[in-house]
Amino acid sequence: MSIASCKYRGRFAPSPSGPLHFGSLVAAMGSYLDARHNQGEWLVRIEDLDPPREQPGAAKRILSTLEAFGFEWDGEILYQSRPDRADAYRKALHELSEQGSTYLCSCSRKEVNEAGKMGAEGPIYPGTCRKKPSVQQSARTIRIRTMACNVGFHDLIFGYVKQNIFAETGDFIIRRADGLFAYQLAVVVDDAFQKITRVVRGSDLLLSTPRQIWLQQLLGLPTPVYAHLPLVRDSLGRKLSKQSQAQPISDRRPLPALLAAWHFLNQVSPENEPENLKIFWKWAIEKWDITRISTDMIV
Ligand code: GLU
Repeated sequence: MSIASCKYRGRFAPSPSGPLHFGSLVAAMGSYLDARHNQGEWLVRIEDLDPPREQPGAAKRILSTLEAFGFEWDGEILYQSRPDRADAYRKALHELSEQGSTYLCSCSRKEVNEAGKMGAEGPIYPGTCRKKPSVQQSARTIRIRTMACNVGFHDLIFGYVKQNIFAETGDFIIRRADGLFAYQLAVVVDDAFQKITRVVRGSDLLLSTPRQIWLQQLLGLPTPVYAHLPLVRDSLGRKLSKQSQAQPISDRRPLPALLAAWHFLNQVSPENEPENLKIFWKWAIEKWDITRISTDMIV
């Protein structure tokens, strides 16, 4: 399908660090239905920016699972590993450094762990290299300067969310010590490049959003509307993730898994079990109601 100029455009952006699990199915379903219910487009982007964390063949497997489950995406899949994307991230980095918004940092992870207070998203960077600039040769990462003010947004599920990034995460990394661009920078550049207007994803990324908005503001990019979905947890209350060895979803019986994801998102129950995927999606697109999802579901 080709991409028309559309006001409503959502996306699903998995990292190929493993096959899809039930939590990622929920995120894919939420973003897909949000877009389609609103006659919008839905794009898929493979966030393959971190080769050490990737699993060979995972991107292909994710896409074939999406197909087996009846998801239909618009346009070409965007791979972050595409050479033009690296150029775009480099350009954004250049723009930020020209503004004086970045600095080089030579602190190791261990030094940050020892010097920084613990925040909700890991150790808060205490600004060591901002106060005492490091010499270029030993610089490891590039950080973005943050300010001690609140960055807020209205989340469709969580309501108003605000964060003082300076106090709660500190100046954060946009290019890593190994030379790779950080997720926070790439996601902002690509959401703008793909003209994404709605970001529906798991609430593990809720606290990343103020950092993304901060970068959007510095780069003069638009801010999409955000909705963060409740996280699927295992019986021990841990978030399902590829790292925690969550079971991959099987491509063989998509309908029961889709219905489970639908129920997880607190959507209205069908009167009769849908007979096939086509019937399920047609019905689900019509019945989708994001207002049925609430933070009460988030434990
Ligand atoms: N690639 C990220 C992940 O798989 C998701 C990024 C996003 O939706 O912003 O967790």
